[in-house]
Amino acid sequence: MSHTKLTVYGAQWCSDCKRAKKFLGEQRVHYDWVDVEQDADGLAFVEQANKGKRIIPTIVFEDESILIEPSNAELAAKLGLQTRANMAYYDLICIGGGPTSLTAALYAAREGLDVLVIERSGLGGQAGITERLDNFPGFPEGIGGAEFADRLTQQARRFGVELLQAQDVVGLRAEDESRYVKTADGAEYGARAILIATGSTYRRLEVPGEDELIGAGVHFCATCDGPFYKGKQVAVIGGGNSAGEESLFLTRFVDKVTILIRGDQLSASKVVIDKVEESAQIEVRTNTEVVALHGEGKLSGLTIRNRKTGVTEEITPSGVFVFIGLTPNSGWLPAEIERDQYGFVTTKPTLETSMRGIFAAGDVRKGSTKQAASAAGEGATAALMVREYLKEM
Ligand SMILES: Cc1cc2nc3c(=O)[nH]c(=O)nc-3n(C[C@H](O)[C@H](O)[C@H](O)COP(=O)(O)OP(=O)(O)OC[C@H]3O[C@@H](n4cnc5c(N)ncnc54)[C@H](O)[C@@H]3O)c2cc1C
Repeated sequence: MSHTKLTVYGAQWCSDCKRAKKFLGEQRVHYDWVDVEQDADGLAFVEQANKGKRIIPTIVFEDESILIEPSNAELAAKLGLQTRANMAYYDLICIGGGPTSLTAALYAAREGLDVLVIERSGLGGQAGITERLDNFPGFPEGIGGAEFADRLTQQARRFGVELLQAQDVVGLRAEDESRYVKTADGAEYGARAILIATGSTYRRLEVPGEDELIGAGVHFCATCDGPFYKGKQVAVIGGGNSAGEESLFLTRFVDKVTILIRGDQLSASKVVIDKVEESAQIEVRTNTEVVALHGEGKLSGLTIRNRKTGVTEEITPSGVFVFIGLTPNSGWLPAEIERDQYGFVTTKPTLETSMRGIFAAGDVRKGSTKQAASAAGEGATAALMVREYLKEM
């Protein structure tokens, strides 16, 4: 994690400011935010820096240099991130920089293979944006997600893994015994084997306050974070099977679950609906949507609106669990790589995909359990399977 002193001047409505803040957040770079619509001095500074014009985001770095409306590539360069590989050909290329990929990479590099990891945002993946991992074996007091990501990254570096950040992989192809990945900047890198470890993305509510409160009262995984809410009240957003099942699971810890659904009724299977209805600890509020999440550093409440009457209301559960869908990051893969109806990559028991020499593991894989420990486990397995494959080549 960087402790660089950096100030972003912008405004809430500015989409470029949002993008830049997201990019810095993904890189776990600390920054101060100045909303120029609320801060007259901030606005004066922006005007002075831009010869009288109000151009945002205006970003000031520790060395007092300034970038005006920088692209993500310009930000990556300024932060000194490596976005281009040193070699054209590797033994193994791991796509994604989460626990699956980094574990596979450090296993393979430790055995002497040349390994390249390509990550489109910040290293550590979803584990890196998690406030705290309380269930990763070996950390009796739990460990902050950012620290976990940093440790994993350092370990991969120690074994000589080359790590690219802020670089999207956009294509994949096979030619004879070689496999090639294409990156968004137009470069192409070859390898004897490739691991797809691009994870999946939890669908967000896209309401004000959400980004800032993820991990600080807003969660996407009951197994991971449910036990933090022993004896408390929580809200669950979503009406499908996972929302129903996770609500039932949460009743093991919490006193009460309020399920908020936009429609007239739950869309889960009958078995799940019956169990939810039987539970004295679960209340279902229909025709209800979340308008905003509130809290400074920690969730303090949410504004909800009845979609039929339009009446808004504040509620104050201790935590909110969002279960409105999980999308695997596999849309960019060629058609030859088989996936299930949701887009999760199907693999053989060896973790090899339908394309020879291309493996998949972790949250992007069909049948994976969406936990950091199992992601690391699948990464290790994938590395061993790649080793066997390379022996036979
Ligand atoms: C908020 C939150 C809290 C969680 N809490 C816990 C917890 O407490 N305990 C627990 O066990 N698990 C937890 N999880 C789940 C855990 O983090 C995941 O199971 C784990 O990180 C999956 O690892 P992965 O490497 O397979 O995928 P990810 O961690 O998702 O990493 C995949 C990476 O691939 C990158 N990527 C995607 N597409 C491309 C592309 N085209 N090119 C280059 N890079 C790409 C992504 O940016 C991402 O960094 C949590 C998840 C979230 C979101």
